Amino acid sequence: MLRDKLVVGVRSENLQKRLLQEGDDATLNKIYEIALSYKAAERDLLSMKIKTKYAKIQHGSKATGKINVVEASENGKYFITLNVDNKNIQFEFDTGSCHTLMPINLYKKLWNKKIYPINLHLKSYSNIKIDVIDKREVFVAEANKSLPLIITEANRPVLLGTTWIKCLPAEFLKFSDINLVQETTCSSLVNKFAEVFGTSNVGVIKDHTAHLILRKDANPRFFRARNVPYVMRNAIEKELENLEAQGVITKIERSDWATPIVPIMKKNGHVRICGDFKITLNPVLKIDQYPLPKIEDIFAILGRGINFSKIDLSHAYLQLELDENSKEMAVINTHNGLYRYNRLPFGIASAPAIWQRIIEQILSGIPGSLVYLDDILITGESEADPLRNLEAVLNRLNEYGLKANREKCNFFQESLEYCGHVIDKMDQILIAYDPKLPIRLSCDSSSYGLGAVLSQIDVDGNERPIYFISRTLSQAEKKYSQIDKECLSIIWALKKFNNYLFGRKFELITDNKPLHHILNPKREISSNMSARLQRWALILSSYNFTIECRKTGDHGNADGLSRLPLKQYEEMEEDAVNTVHMIKQCEELPLTSSHIRRESCKDSILKIVYQNTLYGWKDKPSNTELLSFYLRREELTVEQGILLLGTRVVIPRKFRAKIKAELHQGHLGVVKMKALARNFIWWPGIDREIEEITRVCRECNINSHTLKQESVHRWESAPTPWYRVHLDFAGPFTNKMFLIVIDRYSKWPEIIIMNSTTAGNTIRVLRDLFSRYGIPDQVVTDNGPQFVSEEMKYIFKSNGVHHLRSAPYFPATNGLAERFVQTLKRSLKNMRNEELNKSLANFLFTYRTVSHSSTREAPAVLF
Ligand SMILES: [Zn+2]
Repeated sequence: MLRDKLVVGVRSENLQKRLLQEGDDATLNKIYEIALSYKAAERDLLSMKIKTKYAKIQHGSKATGKINVVEASENGKYFITLNVDNKNIQFEFDTGSCHTLMPINLYKKLWNKKIYPINLHLKSYSNIKIDVIDKREVFVAEANKSLPLIITEANRPVLLGTTWIKCLPAEFLKFSDINLVQETTCSSLVNKFAEVFGTSNVGVIKDHTAHLILRKDANPRFFRARNVPYVMRNAIEKELENLEAQGVITKIERSDWATPIVPIMKKNGHVRICGDFKITLNPVLKIDQYPLPKIEDIFAILGRGINFSKIDLSHAYLQLELDENSKEMAVINTHNGLYRYNRLPFGIASAPAIWQRIIEQILSGIPGSLVYLDDILITGESEADPLRNLEAVLNRLNEYGLKANREKCNFFQESLEYCGHVIDKMDQILIAYDPKLPIRLSCDSSSYGLGAVLSQIDVDGNERPIYFISRTLSQAEKKYSQIDKECLSIIWALKKFNNYLFGRKFELITDNKPLHHILNPKREISSNMSARLQRWALILSSYNFTIECRKTGDHGNADGLSRLPLKQYEEMEEDAVNTVHMIKQCEELPLTSSHIRRESCKDSILKIVYQNTLYGWKDKPSNTELLSFYLRREELTVEQGILLLGTRVVIPRKFRAKIKAELHQGHLGVVKMKALARNFIWWPGIDREIEEITRVCRECNINSHTLKQESVHRWESAPTPWYRVHLDFAGPFTNKMFLIVIDRYSKWPEIIIMNSTTAGNTIRVLRDLFSRYGIPDQVVTDNGPQFVSEEMKYIFKSNGVHHLRSAPYFPATNGLAERFVQTLKRSLKNMRNEELNKSLANFLFTYRTVSHSSTREAPAVLF
């Protein structure tokens, strides 16, 4: 029975008793509620423990005056009040210094004593010089002896150094272990080890290489490059260039091995490139069985520590060079050709073990340190240890050329969240985890929450839950499709339980049939999936698991939790990935996202598809159009109210004819038109409709046979600045017409005030513009009379400019220029009183220097 499973699995004996008292009729939900409130109570208990500690200090002191210890939690500083020469003075703990300091203005105010300046300088950890004015012996009641007090220049903090702390009674000492090393220590460490924390290049480990070993029967596997959406190509090429410049990869001409890539778009618009090695190398690799540290070993070391530091090694495995043999196997195939990895890439099955072994060797012999893949954890048992151990680790990293990511490092923290626990020195960690037993992870989501249960199967085959987690979905996540929500619950649980799951074999349980299929470890990551699912599937592919699908009924543990989530909002990082992608897609289309959103709601079929994608499909529909969506339900997602099939925008019925006309511009022929559609748009039967148009079109037929180079389409990506330029007229506002010119690649805008919009005048303006910036390869316009005039045609033709016109009668054909005009109008309205030229200059300046929503860079940076 589920309830009993839960009760048995609960870690606390008291809670077990409490739950068993509830009797057999208690519902599962009731039990959860009690369990959750008990957890809250446990937290309260912890804070009570801390309070008791304060009380103890008060009790144990021999002070005459009142003593209080205050924690100023906002800035993490700790203060203590001591009785010094019969005055109560509040000191700030500073275990980074041996001196106890007081500024002269306070000293004078308290004792009104004369000062005889001495000539002495101190240096703080951050190398800041402190001028010392005097040194006095003062009587400290709590220590029951006289101690040296340094008097500094005015208005400096009152600091309690280690010479005093050591003389305080045991209770004080124990308390002061809560380490208060200041930011100054950290920044001096960062300065001292500038090489380690430098961000310039990917580090390369000295004297070590990774060797990939193939099984005897292994044959090379070669996969061709996967189709990549146009909108991502530039970013991929940039990243390949970057990796090549860093020496991580090298372009090669031929190879026996080739692994297709999965490009993962990041929030900042950049792309991370990952090889899908699970279909090439991984099945034939001999996996090094080097063990990762056991959870209980991690806690055994950390549990004794007084504070904790964590070093995050940047680019992880990429810092480790492959040996010559292995380089020949780690080859990726991209739309830009073949590249060989020179470093150990992410996604290779034997990488964790190879890496762990080498980093452990490098750090061997340093006390209080341990490595868990790209994390190094450092602690120490007594006051001076943590700093000494941390310095030893950093020295070693420096010696071997390893680099760390400063942003992701933590130094001297009182507590550390690791393996789903908050580790701190006060809390004893009790854990029912047995590394010898099989692990199972069950995940589930409801429309508003996520839940996951980590359990183990004991020798009798019983499932023993060890952890339950749950949380509420964020507003953005609530709008995810059902399949995305289910997958989110898995990815989130993997993160939380990473140390139990990574590098070990486990069983993953979901109640979502399609997901079971999509995430199957043996299945290739399909480029038809949404950007988000591709990224998640890739994360999962580095784990060793089997997946099983169970009906909700047999899956009560996780299901119950997802319906009773803790009030917690944790936005997953890189949440905007799909959104960025969608914005980019829509920008190419002659429709704005709000057009599509509005019409999708009115479309009788899309309305239903939308609902079913969000909340799950119940039965197989009988309607044939719905059925074609149903059959591709694994690939459907919803992003900002817009339906996507993989990365393609689903076009509502109303716009299909017009989009088709737009697609047909330039008569690219059936093959290229289909390829273009595959990058941007979808509706049921789109391929057949394209075949139909092109079959009866003479020009398309000619083009598809001759494959003319100049058959270009404006949806294709612009590879460089000023390659494709969009022209449009706007106005009249304030009685003026404006020529809007926007560079496709960088979004760099130009606005020219026009006295007249005749062909002659427009040509004069363009000639001036082209003389300044050069002649673009392509110009995109609507069918305005000046653009289709003979003069204009001649100018474009004689300069070798491809003139791409939009389909006639389209609502917002020139999407990019159109949107810019809207922004411009709004802005001009607000600036009516200023001079027009000045307003325009201000507007342009802002537009060019502020990061653009689709490129995530300022136009001025890219232009
Ligand atoms: Zn045609």
